[in-house]
Amino acid sequence: MLAYDDLLAFERQTQALAAIAGRLGWDQETMMPQGAANQRGEELAAIEAVLHARRTDPQVGEWLAAIDATTLDDVQKASIRLIRRDFDRSSKVPADLATELARVTSLSHRKWAAARAADDFDGFAPTLAHVLKLKRQEAQALAVGGDLYDALLDTYEPGARAADVASMFDALRPRLVALADRVLGASHQPAVLNKDFDEDKQIAISREIASAFGYDFAHGRIDKAVHPFSSGSGADVRITTRTSLSDPFNCIYSTIHETGHGSYEQHVDPAYALTPLGGGASMGVHESQSRIYENQLGRSRAFTSHLHARMRALFGDFGVADAESFFHTVNRVSPGFIRTEADELHYNLHIMLRFDLERALIAGDLAVSDLPEAWNNRFEADFGVKVDRPSNGVLQDVHWSAGLFGYFPTYTLGNVYAGCLNQVMRRDLPDLDSRLADGDTSAATGWLRENLQRHGSLREPKDTITQACGTPPTVEPLLSYLETKFTDLYRL
Ligand code: ZN
Repeated sequence: MLAYDDLLAFERQTQALAAIAGRLGWDQETMMPQGAANQRGEELAAIEAVLHARRTDPQVGEWLAAIDATTLDDVQKASIRLIRRDFDRSSKVPADLATELARVTSLSHRKWAAARAADDFDGFAPTLAHVLKLKRQEAQALAVGGDLYDALLDTYEPGARAADVASMFDALRPRLVALADRVLGASHQPAVLNKDFDEDKQIAISREIASAFGYDFAHGRIDKAVHPFSSGSGADVRITTRTSLSDPFNCIYSTIHETGHGSYEQHVDPAYALTPLGGGASMGVHESQSRIYENQLGRSRAFTSHLHARMRALFGDFGVADAESFFHTVNRVSPGFIRTEADELHYNLHIMLRFDLERALIAGDLAVSDLPEAWNNRFEADFGVKVDRPSNGVLQDVHWSAGLFGYFPTYTLGNVYAGCLNQVMRRDLPDLDSRLADGDTSAATGWLRENLQRHGSLREPKDTITQACGTPPTVEPLLSYLETKFTDLYRL
């Protein structure tokens, strides 16, 4: 066991250093003085270099070779599986390529932000082509003869394959498009909010709701950021939100979403802290938690009736008099351009569009110069609206500029997983709605904690869902949830 103990002690320090890097990233988006940006870049690069050296340290390979797997229990085996995976992947990518990718993607972020502000795709195209070229090289190094896109997808969703994701999406797309069409053509449309909402009060109600959803402020905090995110794991998990004067739902539902991510991290078994098991199983499983908190719980008829009463008490009259109308307003469907503002029906169509385009880019079947036209044609086909400018289309997301090819499908995997979890959770908790209507989410969040969150990365992502649900994930629960909910809401 000597090699195992030494390896885990080394890993514990690596995890602690990674947590420090994460906290520097959190600080950069929330607290850091503006003038510190360049120095922060150096600080982050320095710690990333230390982390990369530790992850590819030949000593790790020697420890892994010396460990006798037959002497290990299941938790130890899972730790070794994850350390070996990380070591193998890190070792496959040449150090100069990893450094070049880090350098180019940190510069391209700024160029993307400027291009988006100026609606100038052509100005950004050479940078994107450079990032794409490097990511294809990285994929070739990781895939060793296998599928390039699978190699990138595996970074965020270990074990997932593009072909399986594609057939899952093929089953979702026609029914989502058909349902969205019927909803948009419905005569029964929701009331709209008719006033501004004090931003300090939005933060106050968001803190109240985060607590109601089980977020632990003794091990976390909420701050404002331009793009909401969560950060950290174990004893220190922080979330961020944003406010918009006319749209309090932006703040409230961003907070519930990030509370889902943060609560998952907070509720992993403390015995796994600073080990490879001490965080969420994958991006897709993570998104299942944020989405089920946000949508299946937070946007339910039961919970919105509680929220309506709380908002009336805090903000007075805002043009939506009764709880049933409020439930409809919260769940308004609209074919907007922007993914991050999309409703539950259109969100997955946004993801499928990006998935198909980035797969073609990585395969070499689509040139960067042809990307805007491909985007605009697909958007019009699925959303029935013409894209008016690049910032409302191909330039809206940060992901590709940051080299995050293979990340997008994890959002829809998360939605599919949330659909599966919701179906089983509601079967197990038949009186859930009566508790949600009182603002009490503890039965639901307790169920998720017990069946999924506490296990962290003990199991492979898909097995994590299968274990919690009793059966492997399929698209059917999500589709029937959406069809039932929106047929009812829009009186179809
Ligand atoms: Zn999320």
